[in-house]
Amino acid sequence: MIAYRLICKDGHEFEGWFADSTAYAAQAQAGDLMCPVCGDASVTKAIMAPAVRTSVTKAKGKTPGTVPELQKQRQFVAGFRKFIEENADYVGPRFPEEARKIHYGETEERHIYGESTLREAKELIEEGIKIAPMPPDPNELN
Ligand SMILES: [Zn+2]
Repeated sequence: MIAYRLICKDGHEFEGWFADSTAYAAQAQAGDLMCPVCGDASVTKAIMAPAVRTSVTKAKGKTPGTVPELQKQRQFVAGFRKFIEENADYVGPRFPEEARKIHYGETEERHIYGESTLREAKELIEEGIKIAPMPPDPNELN
């Protein structure tokens, strides 16, 4: 999995997770990428400028913004994964099947996570089922 910083033509920036750069290219070409803010489909890769978001708050004797961006991203990803692992049922490769059952009210409504192929994920999205890609385990990055 790789993360791309994407931008729509109105300038909304957001992050997209893809299996690899080919998956990104395929979705971009098919017009499958959409801005989560305004729904615009003219989405392109944002220029990977060092994303420095320093707080405006005056630090009292402390140097702000010294946490490297990658470190912050890892903390975010780790937190997100932890939330999923603690609050969702792991259903493994039965993910698409379970997601459908929940969507159509055939089983108890709950958070689940598991594995699916890109094709299965796309089909779920087309059926209006809300799913999100799981960020990779930070310990497995690099
Ligand atoms: Zn937008």
